[in-house]
Amino acid sequence: KNEIPGWAFSDDEGTKMQGTITIIPADNDYGYKIPSDTTGECWAVSAHKSGDCTFKNEELKGKTLSWLWDNHREVFGNAKGDIFPLLIKIIDAKKDLSIQVHPNDEYAKANENGALGKTECWYILDCEEGATIIIGHNAKSKEELKQMIEEKRWKDLIREIPIKKGDFFQITPGTVHAIKGGTVILETQQNSDITYRLYDYDRLSNGKPRELHIKKSIDVIKCPYIEEKQDFKIIKKDNYDEKDLVKCEFYEVKKIDIHGEETFIQNKPFEIVSVIEGKGFINDFEIKKGDHFIIPFNYGEYKLKGNMELIISNI
Ligand code: ZN
Repeated sequence: KNEIPGWAFSDDEGTKMQGTITIIPADNDYGYKIPSDTTGECWAVSAHKSGDCTFKNEELKGKTLSWLWDNHREVFGNAKGDIFPLLIKIIDAKKDLSIQVHPNDEYAKANENGALGKTECWYILDCEEGATIIIGHNAKSKEELKQMIEEKRWKDLIREIPIKKGDFFQITPGTVHAIKGGTVILETQQNSDITYRLYDYDRLSNGKPRELHIKKSIDVIKCPYIEEKQDFKIIKKDNYDEKDLVKCEFYEVKKIDIHGEETFIQNKPFEIVSVIEGKGFINDFEIKKGDHFIIPFNYGEYKLKGNMELIISNI
């Protein structure tokens, strides 16, 4: 039983709960369901209309994350916004996914009916030997980019780099990117789905090539591509290791490896925790690989115990 003082949730009927909020992912690969035809995607923590997660907690049975966001903003430290700001996905790419780029908030607002742009990041959970990923491109200028696209010089244009388990990539708007087959990632992203497809390897689906968005892609692709710096702050202690993966205006993501017991403090609007390996406890509440939960606002101290790896995302 998980009883943490300092935070309580009371719903319309007046029942109260305390502690973490366990998410039931909208999923099609790990025994859950999602209304999607994309295979191998788990919407682990999502309030998106295409896959709104529900909760495991008895007190919140049948309620969705978007409902909790709309009706109990205090759970999230009264964070601002019409929609829950983050979306956590696990993507198990069986084949090469199409090569894409996202607009920033400004471009999306002007060209996509006021929608949000999208910044996202990828933690490589697993990949095959010799796996690669697509991040960036090799055109030196917008002119060269246009020309290379026109002449279909995709091999020259697309920047493909080797990856290994545990690698991390921040993908800012305007960055060309794609996951290749045989790769499993955990993605933290802005809750948006504005995506421009630049290239789909000339594949056909149902006899036709999928729609590309060449003009909008050229509009938003940053030229030249500049590699994101990878200088992670790392803390190594007896009981745990902590690696700060990214801090940007939309989210922060860190990885914590527990080997023993350690006390942490939740002083953010909320924290989303994903157990990516092993098992253990948060306070006296058992958690294991594949679990995703929210530690609400004002939760205070919590104790992690066991042998496990966690990805923690917050705004
Ligand atoms: Zn993307």
